[in-house]
Amino acid sequence: MKTPDPGPTRVIQGIAASPGIAVGKVRLLHEVAAAVEERELAVAEVEGEIAAFREAIEAARREITALRDSTRIDVGEDEARIFDVQLQVLVDPMLVDRTAEAVRAERRNAAFLFRRHALEVIETLEALADDHFSERAADLHDVEARVLRHLAGTDEVRLPEKTGVLLGRQLTPSEAVRLDPGRVLGFATERGGVTSHASIMARARGIPAVVGARRLASLAHDGDTVAVDGFAGRVTLNPGPAEMERFRKRRRAFVRLQRRRERLAAAEPVTRDGHRVVLGANMEIPEEIDYIESRGADGVGLFRTEFFFMLHQRVPTEEEQVAVYGDIARRLAGRELVVRVLDVGGDKVASYLHLARERNPYLGMRGIRYLLSHRDVFRTQLRALLRAGTEGPISILLPMVHAVDELEETRALIAEVSAELSREGKPHDPHPRLGVMVEVPSAVFLAEEFARRCDFLSVGSNDLMQYLLAVDRDHEALRELYDPLHPAVLRAVERVVRAGHREGKPVSLCGEMGSDPRALPLILGMGLDRLSVSPYLLPEVKQTLRALRYDDCRELAQDALTLATAGEVRALLEERLGTDYSGVLRLVHESNGRREGGRK
Ligand code: PEP
Ligand code: MG
Repeated sequence: MKTPDPGPTRVIQGIAASPGIAVGKVRLLHEVAAAVEERELAVAEVEGEIAAFREAIEAARREITALRDSTRIDVGEDEARIFDVQLQVLVDPMLVDRTAEAVRAERRNAAFLFRRHALEVIETLEALADDHFSERAADLHDVEARVLRHLAGTDEVRLPEKTGVLLGRQLTPSEAVRLDPGRVLGFATERGGVTSHASIMARARGIPAVVGARRLASLAHDGDTVAVDGFAGRVTLNPGPAEMERFRKRRRAFVRLQRRRERLAAAEPVTRDGHRVVLGANMEIPEEIDYIESRGADGVGLFRTEFFFMLHQRVPTEEEQVAVYGDIARRLAGRELVVRVLDVGGDKVASYLHLARERNPYLGMRGIRYLLSHRDVFRTQLRALLRAGTEGPISILLPMVHAVDELEETRALIAEVSAELSREGKPHDPHPRLGVMVEVPSAVFLAEEFARRCDFLSVGSNDLMQYLLAVDRDHEALRELYDPLHPAVLRAVERVVRAGHREGKPVSLCGEMGSDPRALPLILGMGLDRLSVSPYLLPEVKQTLRALRYDDCRELAQDALTLATAGEVRALLEERLGTDYSGVLRLVHESNGRREGGRK
């Protein structure tokens, strides 16, 4: 049988999100738009439906305009023109006005009618069997899916069944948590940054990934061959035989390197001059505990429970939660277990939690704000944590705290829940250690107040950076600004460490900054007590720590804190430490580093 000719080789540069090389068949993420249903409207619903439709068109227009502008700057004028064509589609009366009129005339939902009209035009263009028109059809498909996503108020896509490399526009956290490393060899998406939750999940699962690869979904076809290079942040569609061989070689070299690193699992995270760091692992789903144990972690420094919630179709019951937390506590046998209470909101949503759509989700109903206004969910989780605390010490960590009241209200709730459990005769830990995540700027300024009132602080550098620098952590085009070496970030972390220590409380850091080899010597030198990192990178972090001297890091941190720009910090690091102390970690982070002569 003759195999079809492969398409042209194309290389798309994105952002390296998870190390490794994946080569395999393209499996496109199916857009939810495929599932649009026809719905009849009541007369009273018609005008609202048209308004929602126009809003969706406007939202799509804003998105495409932003894409066009950033493509013009980052790639070039020619590539940006693609989006001009898409913008024209959005003002085409054949599509937009005709849909609005049809909603009025037929009293059917806008998504259904818009889809019907778009498909009519697409079919006409495709029937012309001409490259120019079939490209226009692809553009129209793109616009259609975008508008329908806005209308549905969702970014959900459905994961394909077959083994291969996932490519698509975006992977939501609730999909990322369902990735099966047995079937998903790697993934690449158009949107996202290094600290997007999909990237975090990819690293946790050892799945090579690239994000921020523009136009990827429209250039790739199901069944094409693709190579995802999670070091260089590059996606190669239909690589030729010589390139394929190169990818295979690099993949083999990486696997060998990984095996050597695995021997480090038994090594202590200690600097050359004997400073021992408590090095925990971040965990998203309970099944990760075996893997975490195999990487030689001191415990779990952050259990992001929202991912475990997302695997359910409803809020897990108290008994289900007790079983999960209790099991992990038993497995850790007295080692640290820090469970972060549900941090939903932002990009992390589960439909059964009924979060309203927000204009600025990252500034909205997130973390502790959600929990304090959904007390039933919060109480259930707290009751489960207190009860599971009889199996081993569990520390409770509060996300997105921005004011002391939120800590106090939670403490009062814990006391209430504990009294309730006593009345019911249920064994539990009445005084779990309580910690506050420092991840919004107000918490940095109030760090002493928090430290005085709780048992430990944990710096959430992923969010702290986004709020401090006003850079969306998922923004692919602004990634150069999302810089852990920015002096404001360094000074904020140092301030938190000092505040914690002044009150005699330990301070940890659980964001991705902890596994960045450039930031690691600095935060170590600031006197941070604990770190919690992706288990996948844990041996690499040990290797880096073992190559550093604590005394040097202290001096380095003091000097870095006097500098005014990230460029100066970078130069200081290079002067004092050189560049080759961190092996694979350096490869991971530097592939996303600044361009030569780029922003300082
Ligand atoms: C953080 O913000 O640094 C953090 C650890 O939490 P998340 O990445 O889940 O927001
Ligand atoms: Mg956070």
